[in-house]
Amino acid sequence: MKTSDIIIIGAGPASLAFARHFKGSDLTLTIIEKSPLDDIARPSYDGREIALTHRSREIMLNLGAWQRIPDDEIYRLTDAKVYNGDFGDALHFKVPKDLSILTSIDRLGNLISNHNIRQALYDEVKDLPNVQILTSQNIQDITTNENQALVKLANDEILTSKLLIGADSRLSFVRKKMGIGAMMNDFGRTVIVFRVSHPLSNEGTARECFLYGRTLALLPLHDKLTNCVITLDNTQANEFLAMNKDELALEVQRMMGDRLGKLSLAGTIHHYPLMGVHAKTFIGNRVALIGDSAVGMHPVTAHGFNLGLLGANTLATLILNAHHNNQDIASTALLQKYNTRHQAHTRPLYHGTNLMVKIFTNDAKPMHAVRDLTLKVSNHLPPIKRWIAGQLTGK
Ligand SMILES: Cc1cc2nc3c(=O)[nH]c(=O)nc-3n(C[C@H](O)[C@H](O)[C@H](O)COP(=O)(O)OP(=O)(O)OC[C@H]3O[C@@H](n4cnc5c(N)ncnc54)[C@H](O)[C@@H]3O)c2cc1C
Repeated sequence: MKTSDIIIIGAGPASLAFARHFKGSDLTLTIIEKSPLDDIARPSYDGREIALTHRSREIMLNLGAWQRIPDDEIYRLTDAKVYNGDFGDALHFKVPKDLSILTSIDRLGNLISNHNIRQALYDEVKDLPNVQILTSQNIQDITTNENQALVKLANDEILTSKLLIGADSRLSFVRKKMGIGAMMNDFGRTVIVFRVSHPLSNEGTARECFLYGRTLALLPLHDKLTNCVITLDNTQANEFLAMNKDELALEVQRMMGDRLGKLSLAGTIHHYPLMGVHAKTFIGNRVALIGDSAVGMHPVTAHGFNLGLLGANTLATLILNAHHNNQDIASTALLQKYNTRHQAHTRPLYHGTNLMVKIFTNDAKPMHAVRDLTLKVSNHLPPIKRWIAGQLTGK
């Protein structure tokens, strides 16, 4: 029976970010991942461009991961515009003046490809002497008692720890096994992602266009390279996925009214089912959930991994402090603190995002005016704009 202080299930970016906090600590960690080593050690491009807040940048800088990402693959997000129905008037977000003066922040945030984030975090963790990563492992069973957590692998080997972390994504096995309920929202929609190149500049502006029947998000990478995120009903997704590259480029060009000139597909096409999840609690007996297993967001507000990083940082800091003071790293009091703090961040964003999606994907005729009015009111109420800009920047 192998023992470590902490076992983490899943080696995704939330798990690796959490583990990296323990560099230099004498706490030992074992990460158990079901995918093969190659998928974790050399992640390939998956179409996701992750918008990271300034707070997330600070956390990643402290973890040494930001510095590992090539400068020309960190894309600047200058501002953001939200449209309703067509490309008419937009709700426009910039860095609030007071914030840019106080902090010299020159952009809303940064975009980084998901595989680059995963690669940087893996490279930071892979050689830590106190962290072991087991890949290609299936888990048979998980139990916890007063003193420890026990994980039984498919080969009957049993691993034990003081604390078990579930970092195993939205349909978390840990969450289910530990009897932790979750609100689950299957939006019945698919998100299709790919890059396009174009002759006109995207000006570093992210555009979220709630068209009727589908949503198009344009995320600026290089000046003439943009990531397209199309969200549409599952019933229409196959039609889009059956298009060849030229047809898809033309369709997007038509959707955005030639705004960026003639589009060409630049790379591979990826798609994901749209599902939101929020665990009722992020903790159990000697168990805590982080990343998407705690809260899996609709990507429209770009908060999923930002919350994953924040949660990993909150929990790791509490554990390191407890260990420093010779206290139990999985005490109920400690886990409660994590739960209270992190839920205070996630709940408003989770419910706010879902409400926004509900309003802006309702295509019934009377809702067109409600959607227009919501944008207009938000555009003319500085406190609302300031609050939303604060959420986008993480400041
Ligand atoms: C199209 C799209 C765009 C997005 N854009 C943004 C954005 O702009 N900003 C943002 O902040 N977030 C964004 N996100 C969300 C972000 O990608 C996720 O929040 C983040 O990847 C979750 O990381 P994670 O480590 O929790 O989970 P994952 O990356 O899903 O990793 C979970 C790991 O656990 C492993 N695993 C699962 N089950 C088991 C098991 N039983 N045993 C062992 N291992 C297991 C999996 O193999 C995987 O390696 C976006 C998501 C999508 C789909």
